[in-house]
Amino acid sequence: MDKPLKILFATPEAVPFAKTGGLADVAGALPKYLQPLGCEVVLIMPYYRMVKRSGLPIQYLGEEIEVPLREETLRAEVYQSQLEPNIMVYFIGRDEFFDREYLYSTPKGDYFDNAERFVFFTRAVLHLARHIGFSPDLIHHHEWQTGLIPAYLKSIYENDPFFAHTATVFTIHNIAYQGLFKKEKFSLTGLPSEMYNPEGVEFWERINLMKAGIVYADVINTVSQKYSEEIQSPEYGYGLEGILRKRNADLYGILNGVDYQEWDPAHDSHLIARYDLRDLSGKQECKRDLLKEFGLPAALEKVPLLGMISRLADQKGFDLLAEILDQLFSFDLGFVLLGTGEQKYHDLFQQVAQKYPQKAGIRIAYDDRLAHKIEAGADLFLMPSKYEPCGLNQIYSLKYGTIPVVRATGGLDDTITHYDPSKGTGNGFKFARYDAKEFLNQIKTAIIFYAQPEHWTKLVRNAMNSDFSWHRSAEAYLQLYRRAIEKRKGSI
Ligand code: ADP
Repeated sequence: MDKPLKILFATPEAVPFAKTGGLADVAGALPKYLQPLGCEVVLIMPYYRMVKRSGLPIQYLGEEIEVPLREETLRAEVYQSQLEPNIMVYFIGRDEFFDREYLYSTPKGDYFDNAERFVFFTRAVLHLARHIGFSPDLIHHHEWQTGLIPAYLKSIYENDPFFAHTATVFTIHNIAYQGLFKKEKFSLTGLPSEMYNPEGVEFWERINLMKAGIVYADVINTVSQKYSEEIQSPEYGYGLEGILRKRNADLYGILNGVDYQEWDPAHDSHLIARYDLRDLSGKQECKRDLLKEFGLPAALEKVPLLGMISRLADQKGFDLLAEILDQLFSFDLGFVLLGTGEQKYHDLFQQVAQKYPQKAGIRIAYDDRLAHKIEAGADLFLMPSKYEPCGLNQIYSLKYGTIPVVRATGGLDDTITHYDPSKGTGNGFKFARYDAKEFLNQIKTAIIFYAQPEHWTKLVRNAMNSDFSWHRSAEAYLQLYRRAIEKRKGSI
């Protein structure tokens, strides 16, 4: 048997320890699926206050490591836990940096010292790897917070035997967040000054940590094929499209998997009734329960119920929805929304609740239990995103037989196929242009099919049969790792 591949995951967040977004789900799940494929995975992340207070079994190892930052050497405490019995998780502790209420930013904006915090973390990852004697075949690092790792491996640690064969894969989960800092912060990194240039980590006279990952990693990927193509264009690339085009030969897209242990109506403990493809009657019970939960009239049971669960942010396409609200509510339908985010959208949806009390249920909150109930109880799920690197909710919706109406962007385009009534193929409805009328048209089309049980049953069946489990994605990552390792060896 082959020797296990030693993979080091460097990530700013991972479920169940700390989460702000989909990255945490990936970092918490992917290692579990890599292990049976012959990988030995060790994960390193910061020891945030959120981790401290998680109530999870985490052990202080009574050890400290030394981490260079600017001219100084700072100490970091080492903590340890496990994702599964054979998957070690190490935490870099330094209260000055990580014992804070939030991970990266407060509602007022980013922490002022994010450059210090994450340059320190990145450097600490490499020092901790050595401390625990884990000489990785590959470092899989995520987002701008760890973007500098391959820059270090290709400079300061270039001749270090410990990292002599270490390849890198850098995953971009959202290119809109890049880790941009004043150029004065470059000295924090300890990198050779020639790396501060437009071919390196410089970005319009600032430093850009995501760019470092893109420039120096052996292989780069995003979380869907479509998004990997989109970000090479000015509309989606947020200024990094040029450098991405340059690295096009090493840029891949791999869809995130979903955790069907958590998201499956056949055994979802949050639901009033469970259901599967053989017996869908429980879905109707879930719909009744959802209407009750929102205090909506029971009569809505007979009309299409539209659901949304989302961060209330511009990215998610709420301006399109705002444009069509009055037309939408002129139809015979119900609407439920769960979300938190920008104040302007809180205001908008509170107005909607007041204006259409018999049709609209609004909950401004983060509520996992209710998210499950919406996935099960709604008939249609709306995601008109401006951009969507992967998106999870549309994939959950499929499993719950809740038909997605999405804009054809990023992972939405890769996971949803438009329904073709003549062939009976497809699992949802898509529109291409970021345009409110197109969005409304697709909702109308979906409603027309909803009224035709022979089509709707087919759609629900196709949706529930769609499979986006981690197994497939983990295989694809393994291939990417092999490619990065070959590249590092110079064989390709
Ligand atoms: P993004 O990472 O851009 O927010 P995704 O669709 O990839 O979008 O993932 C969002 C995740 O967060 C999903 O698991 C979704 O159910 C969850 N979520 C978002 N908003 C809420 C909320 N208000 N309450 C409960 N869960 C939410």
